[in-house]
Parts: sequence; C-alpha cells; structure tokens
Amino acid sequence: MSVLIVGSTALDSIKTPNAENPKLLGGSASHAAVAAAFFTPVKLIGVVGDDFPKRYIALYRKHKINLEGLQVKAGKTFHWSGEYEVNMDNRQTLLTELGVFGTFTPHLPESYKKSRFVLLANIAPSLQAHVLDQMQRPKFVIADTMDLWLNIALKDLLALIRRVDAFVLNESEAHQLTDRHNMLHAAREIHKLGPKYVIIKKGHNGAFLSGPRGFFLCPAYPLESLVDPTGAGDSFVGALIGYMATRPGPVENSLRRAMVYGSVVASFCCEGFGLTRTTKLKRSEIEGRVAQLEKLVRF
Ligand code: AMP
Repeated sequence: MSVLIVGSTALDSIKTPNAENPKLLGGSASHAAVAAAFFTPVKLIGVVGDDFPKRYIALYRKHKINLEGLQVKAGKTFHWSGEYEVNMDNRQTLLTELGVFGTFTPHLPESYKKSRFVLLANIAPSLQAHVLDQMQRPKFVIADTMDLWLNIALKDLLALIRRVDAFVLNESEAHQLTDRHNMLHAAREIHKLGPKYVIIKKGHNGAFLSGPRGFFLCPAYPLESLVDPTGAGDSFVGALIGYMATRPGPVENSLRRAMVYGSVVASFCCEGFGLTRTTKLKRSEIEGRVAQLEKLVRF
C-alpha cells in the first residue's frame, strides 16, 4: 500500500563542528519520503521554487517517489540553515526563508486521496489539516511537529492532533506541550488530547511508544560516529509508516517493529550530511542493522 507524505521540501545549509554544506536536499517530507520508499511506494506533497536543482528531482525519482503532488512555483525554495554544537545534540536554527512555502496551499491529486497511510510530516499544522481534509478514509494517520508550532500555532496543532491516530514529537516538545517531565505522565496527557498512539523521540536514546497495548521502548542503533543528525526524526517516522504500510492486519501488530525500522533508517541518516547516506542505502543494509539491533536488546 502506498503512503502519502506531506511536509517541507527544502534546501538545507548545515554546519557541524567538522564541516559545512550549503543547500543540500532537505526538508521533513524529503527525509521521510526517501526513508518510506525503501518499503513502499510514496506519494509526495510539497512545493519547491524554480531554483530547485534538477538533480534533486532526479534523486526523488530514483527512489520512485510519486511527484504528481509536488508543486513547482516561481520563486525560491524553502531554505533552512542550522548549526550544531560540539556535542551534536544541540542545534541552533540560523535561518528560515519560507520562499514559496509562504503561500503554499496543498492540493491533492485525485490519485492521492485514497491513500490508506498518511504521514503529516513537520510543517505548519494548518497545512497538515488541509491535507487531512482532502483524504478519503485513511487507515492510519501520523502527525509530526516541531517546537516552532507549539510556540506560534498551538491552537491549530491541538485541533490537528485530535484528528490523528498517532502523534510523534521529541522529548523536549512533549515536556513543552504537557508541562510534564516524566515520559509516562507526558504520554498520558497527550492521549487526552486525542491520539491513540503517542511516540516520543529521544534522539540517541531511542524512542518511546504509548498505546492501547502499553508501552514500548525502542532503542537507537549505537553509532561509532555521527556526521549530521539533521532529518533523523523525519527518517524515523518515514521508515516507520513505510514499513507499516507493508504489513497486513491491525496496526497494533506492526507498530513496534515499525519503530525499530524507523530507528535503523534514522541511524543511517546520521552517518552522512543531509540525505547523502540515506540515498545510497540498500534495503539489505537496513535488514542487517535490524537483525543486529535485535541481538543487542535480547535478554
Ligand atoms: P529534524 O532534524 O528531524 O528536526 O528535521 C530537520 C528538517 O526540518 C530539515 O531538513 C529542515 O529543512 C526542516 N525544517 C526546519 N524548519 C522547518 C519548518 N519551520 N517547517 C518545516 N520544516 C522545517
């Protein structure tokens, strides 16, 4: 089954303590779409400007991502720039130029509307809602977000999360949203806002799931060296929904394993700048790391 993904399609300029790379292919939807495409066909919704390099379109196509819903508008592509501190855990946003995203209205092609699996990757919650409005009876909808929307669009975000099956956010965002430091308490508060499943991402400490079948702790794959964590969260959720779309039966049965796939693809993402490592990845490498991770946590 195919997955519909909406989110940012961007040019990312990234600085780490060791290197600097301007205008790489980035954006929440780009990372998520490439990750999901290892498992299932992906339909992308986004917008780019007329400055968007043709080689990036070719990269989407190489991953067989359906681009019927990608608008190309006169103007500049969304440009984001971030700089990591020495520990690579903390990141400062240096620049956010909305460009054509400033006036973006997502229109779903007819062929997208019946997608059963929907990922509302990080983007303004009003745009996520606009996509959801156009869908016809999806089976499973996941929404991701970022601190910016908690700060400037909380009302829209709360209206959106009432409508989704799963809500994904990182630890500091969960704390900001609920005022609870304890993860179990934070998850309980978020369930009260609507979603049946709550996934809290904890960076190199893995991820936590809360749902009707209880809790699950998903480990992160331990890496020797980290090049650039940008997009790891988007890759996590992209691989997660991509894997789920391949599994028959109730989503409860596949969610835990889907998180492990998400964690593994996110680990590859961190091994290169932007999408450079993920776009060279092979499915067999993913399976290899899933098997290694399984051995690491078995007792
Ligand atoms: P992550 O490292 O998972 O937080 O995701 C980083 C990605 O988020 C980058 O590729 C950025 O292009 C994208 N991004 C940064 N700021 C925004 C924003 N305000 N809206 C949508 N996407 C963003």
